Amino acid sequence: MLFKTWLLQAGPNDIVIYVHKSKLIPGKSNCFYPYVAYLGMMFFTEDFLQYVWKFRLFERENLQTTTGETIEIFSAGLQNSDSGPDFQNARLRIGDTTWAGNVELHLSSSDWRKHKHTIDNAYNNIILHVVYRDDEPLIMPDGRPVPTLELHERISPDLYNRYHHLVYGNQQIIPCEGSISFVDDVTLRNWLTRVLVERLEKRSAAVIAALNKNRGDWEETFYQFLAAQFGFKTNAVPFELMAKSLPQLTLAKHKNNALQIEAMIFGQAGFLEDDFTNGYPKSLKEEYSFLRKKYGLTPIEKHLWKFLRMRPQNFPTIRLAQFAALAVRSNHLFSKVLEIKDIAGLRKLFTDLEVNPYWENHYRFEAESKLISKSLGQSSIDILLLNTFVLFLFSYGKHNQQEYYINRSLKLLEQLPAEQNNIVTNFDLLGIKVNTAFDSQALLELKNNYCDYKKCLQCGVGNKILRMA
Ligand code: SF4
Repeated sequence: MLFKTWLLQAGPNDIVIYVHKSKLIPGKSNCFYPYVAYLGMMFFTEDFLQYVWKFRLFERENLQTTTGETIEIFSAGLQNSDSGPDFQNARLRIGDTTWAGNVELHLSSSDWRKHKHTIDNAYNNIILHVVYRDDEPLIMPDGRPVPTLELHERISPDLYNRYHHLVYGNQQIIPCEGSISFVDDVTLRNWLTRVLVERLEKRSAAVIAALNKNRGDWEETFYQFLAAQFGFKTNAVPFELMAKSLPQLTLAKHKNNALQIEAMIFGQAGFLEDDFTNGYPKSLKEEYSFLRKKYGLTPIEKHLWKFLRMRPQNFPTIRLAQFAALAVRSNHLFSKVLEIKDIAGLRKLFTDLEVNPYWENHYRFEAESKLISKSLGQSSIDILLLNTFVLFLFSYGKHNQQEYYINRSLKLLEQLPAEQNNIVTNFDLLGIKVNTAFDSQALLELKNNYCDYKKCLQCGVGNKILRMA
């Protein structure tokens, strides 16, 4: 279906609106009516009215209630994103009385009744009802009239046009694509920093949940997350399962014996259940058989690993060999992450990892290939730093309320190169400089969680565009 229809009962005659589906706001389409105004020539959601109230972007000269009492606004109040009135703790003077309390907004005053606020005690102490159109008086159940401010004809067409263009325009990449390059650098940078922190805060919730499961053990939690990153997207799950089945403390007990560490990693990954003819996997199997009994280990299923459509260099067998080499080189890696301050030192943890020589001419057990080094490349190392080190420095700082580590995580992002993907390319086309992973990560968050949902009224960039002179 190309068009969706709404019947609006906002004026003297009902109005039917046909909206092309490309104009629907993701996540909002199911509750379009009655949150839309199409009164006169204006077409907007209640969000816009809240935005106008929040920043007092309406004509404030001779402000009066619908019954003619003067209104002076000291504070618009704090916007409430939960249930209940839209703004709390507003401070106003109506007539000769000063009020402190809640403010509710609606496109039409009759929405109060339609939204069933009449029977909801949470709305009993409203000090002002702000509406775009006053189509019926608001009387509380106890007979008390509620002062109403009508904003119709107080919102400038200029502001409305900018909003309309931003949210309902015919854009290809993001809603503000025609204006974002005019936003000053300070505003843009401040906003990108804010969304980047939002991104890290969301992701660090998973770290803290895992930390709690690991009884506050940062080393173990870091080891599990790092393992998942070694699987990159395709084999993240089996890598994580393998790591969870093999505590890093068990590995640390064998830190001086590379073969035993490799045996436990490949064994727990399920790769040592076959019969082998090559000497190396045979030795691994033998070692694993002993260690498996000693620690009561249970391997994961081998079929969980994916090889299909992967470059041989990224085969899970090669990644496991690199992970084993890392475990041989360093244990208690997280304490090193906390200690090492420079990016060169952090990269060095992964540089020239010595995988078992068997892998130099194998991608899988028992299948010989030509001789190629299997060390981790610089871009793979940087992805590990980006997805694990940055996240853990941030999570550690946040959890322990140590700003120092939060700043170090942001600084590390500024030192890492930007990722290359469609989102970065498109922002680049719009004139936004993407120099580092700090920029690319922030833009990823902006695009996926703001632009795609047209949350321009909650966006620092959108806020600036709407108020540009
Ligand atoms: S959310 Fe912000 S950056 Fe994205 S399109 Fe809207 S105004 Fe532009």
